[in-house]
Parts: sequence; structure tokens; C-alpha cells
Amino acid sequence: MGSAIKKIGVFTSGGDSPGMNAAIRSVVRTCAYLKVDCVGIYRGYQGMIEGDFKPMDARSVNNIINKGGTILKSARCDDFRSAEGRKRAHEQLKKEGIDAFVVIGGDGSFTGAMIFNQEFDFPVIGIPGTIDNDIFGTTFTLGFDTALNTVVEAIDKIRDTASSHNRLFFVEVMGRDVGHIALNAGVGAGAEEILIPEENLGLDRLLESLKRSKKSGKSSSIVIVAEGDKTGKNVFQLKEYVEEHLPIYDVRVSVLGHMQRGGSPSCYDRVLASRMGVKAVESILEGKTNLMVGVSDNKLILTPINKAIKGHTKIDKELIRVSEIMTT
Ligand code: ADP
Repeated sequence: MGSAIKKIGVFTSGGDSPGMNAAIRSVVRTCAYLKVDCVGIYRGYQGMIEGDFKPMDARSVNNIINKGGTILKSARCDDFRSAEGRKRAHEQLKKEGIDAFVVIGGDGSFTGAMIFNQEFDFPVIGIPGTIDNDIFGTTFTLGFDTALNTVVEAIDKIRDTASSHNRLFFVEVMGRDVGHIALNAGVGAGAEEILIPEENLGLDRLLESLKRSKKSGKSSSIVIVAEGDKTGKNVFQLKEYVEEHLPIYDVRVSVLGHMQRGGSPSCYDRVLASRMGVKAVESILEGKTNLMVGVSDNKLILTPINKAIKGHTKIDKELIRVSEIMTT
């Protein structure tokens, strides 16, 4: 490939997610394979501004495919939001001889990359890394599948206690704006109800459903609540509400929290990360820029970053229907 690009920077930015290391590994090894220099940029845009760089070769990424988090560290960087901060970042990249970068992160990180591209005509490609699966232009983001497996495993354990004591459990999972984790993990773990930001189930319907569930002979129940659900009550207020209206239930709450973001990536996330890293480097060397790599119908696709940022992912209506049927 006769490309003007001789050195590619790679970094992780914003919230970490399982699979980021596998993506770093893929970008580094693809560069080595195609004989292009690769530089790791530590702590996202903060490290870019400070010139926190380290040349990486194929051996720099040994034994990381199975590791959660990110070896390049991640950071939030307010300085990059200013033109002055981005100018310093550009100077550092030029000083190091970096001609393009691959950013692994969420929509905030992509917004920064897009502005940077516009200001300096600097080639950028994004790889979506976030457990929330809330990025337009890809059916799956890196870390989503791992997070689902983590949540399902946790709920399986909670179910043991729920069924031993005939209890009702409210389990809060991540998802402020989108309910992908709640819906998919809820179906996978056999939850009785799933409360998500996209649908307003309503408190009356929740009570009705719990009554039905009791009548039908279920001795315990699991209700999955996404952080941003639309009932207007947080998970602890929901517990109080149900205890007040349905005293037959002994209710407990479990907030899964940050455990959902960690852990060894699933095989699916490792494979996806490996594919996306190859596509990102090859695309940059083909002269493509300002795009995000995504997957659709199991094929890799490229979406303009501005669309990836602005578009909305849709909740799977068919899955909502399946979940309703399963709770009969
Ligand atoms: P995520 O990438 O996970 O959505 P953030 O929203 O925290 O995470 O964004 C990560 C970083 O991207 C921010 O700390 C900032 O450095 C950069 N960034 C986000 N939005 C902008 C913006 N509008 N302009 C410039 N940089 C931005």
C-alpha cells in the first residue's frame, strides 16, 4: 500500500470497556504486519497534550488480549475541549511524527476526534468501545457482550438467594440513556420484568405483573432496572413502593455497579476487537478518515463519525416482545 502515512497513534479514551486491550493489540499488530510505525498514546487526549507516547511493536502487546481495562490507560481531558489544548496536542503529534490516529472510545471521544480532524485535517478513525452499546453505526460495541455475560452471571447467583428465600429482587444495571444491557441480560437471565429508559412500563403495570407472577405460582422474582428507567423512581424507591403496595413480597435490591465494566473480555469481544483493529488501520492507509468502524450483519462497515455521534441506537422491539412472552 503506497500510503503517505508512516506512523499511526493509538489510544483509549473516556470510559473503559472490556475488549479495548484486544483492539490495541490488533491495531499494533496490523501496523507491524503492514510495516507502519505505531505509537501508543497514554491516558487519551491528556497524554496526547503532554506527549506521553511510547513506540509499540508486535511484542509490546503480548498477553493482553485476555485482559480487561486498557494498558494505555484512559482519562477524561477538559483541556482537549479548548482550541488551545487541541493545538498543543497537534504540536505533540507532529513532533513525534504521528500522521494519523485510531481512537478507541465512546461518543465523547469521537466528538473530540472529529473536531480535531476538522481543525488540522488530521486523519482519524474510531473504534467503538463502551459497554452500553449506545453508538449508532454498529450493532455491537466492544465490551457489550462481556458486560452482558457478567450481568447474567451475577443475576444467576442472585436468583439462588431469591428462590431459596422466596424473595423479590430489584437488580440495577448500567444504562442511563439506553436499555440494551437491561433488555438483553434480562431475557438471558430470565427476569420477570425489565425496566428500560426507552419504554415506560408504568408503576401500575409493574404491580399488576408482580401480582400475576405470584398468582401463577412463582415463588421468587427478579426485576431488572436500567439506571435511567422511566418510572421516575430509583431502585431503592421502587423497593419501598412495591413493599408498600404488595406487602406479600420480601424485596431486596442489588446494584451491580462498576463490576459490569471490568473483567476478561468474552470471545465475541476479542474477535470483534481484532477485526475492528485490522479494519481501522487498513482504512487509514487507504486514505479514509473521519470514520468509525462498526459491525452490521456480521460484516465490518464504516460510518461517518458525525453520524455515529448524532444517530440513536434503537431498542430491539422483537426482544421486548420475546421478554413479555417469556414471563407468562
Ligand atoms: P466517552 O468517549 O466514553 O463518551 P467522554 O464523553 O468522557 O467519554 O469523552 C472523553 C474525552 O473526549 C473527554 O474527556 C474530552 O477530552 C474529549 N471530548 C469529549 N467531548 C468533546 C468535545 N465536544 N470537544 C473536544 N473534546 C471532547
